[in-house]
Amino acid sequence: MARRKNKELLDLAMELGGEEAVEVIKALEKKKEATDEELAETTGIRVNTVRKVLYLLYDQGLAEFKRIRDKETGWYYYYWHLETKRLPEILRARKMAELKKLKEMLEEETSEIYYWCGTEGHPKLTFDEAMEYEFQCPICGKMLMQYDNTEVVEDLKKRIEELEIELGLKKKPRKSSRRPKSKGKEAS
Ligand SMILES: [Zn+2]
Repeated sequence: MARRKNKELLDLAMELGGEEAVEVIKALEKKKEATDEELAETTGIRVNTVRKVLYLLYDQGLAEFKRIRDKETGWYYYYWHLETKRLPEILRARKMAELKKLKEMLEEETSEIYYWCGTEGHPKLTFDEAMEYEFQCPICGKMLMQYDNTEVVEDLKKRIEELEIELGLKKKPRKSSRRPKSKGKEAS
């Protein structure tokens, strides 16, 4: 598997199922095909957990299995392998969902002015809500001040732009100078 694709797969595995998912994927990559018990043995992860990870990957379309019957015992064995054909599609869908969420957050931050006591974890109230509480924090009773969200808004806008560029929904802004970096001068 190409390096970049592999990194994306492992990042996704980390998000979906943490360290254990990463280990299972690495083991599957190496073995190409393996049963849950073989994977448990190679990774040292409990077989129940391995199974959970495998089903998680299967749900996402990232793993598939073949069912093979052992002629002697009559038992069925499940041989798992990675399936990365859909990986770009899955990653794109997840990024689109993230973009949507960021846009909603931006909308929420910019559509209202909020009032806040300044303590992390205490609620930010709209003007009407703040009125109801007579501009006192419902938790600590400190006076509510207009919440300056400039930084949050700027940060959201930046992340949205980066994602849009990554998804090809927006072109990279051109630098004012297109000459190659010259030595000694720091390009900003
Ligand atoms: Zn407070």
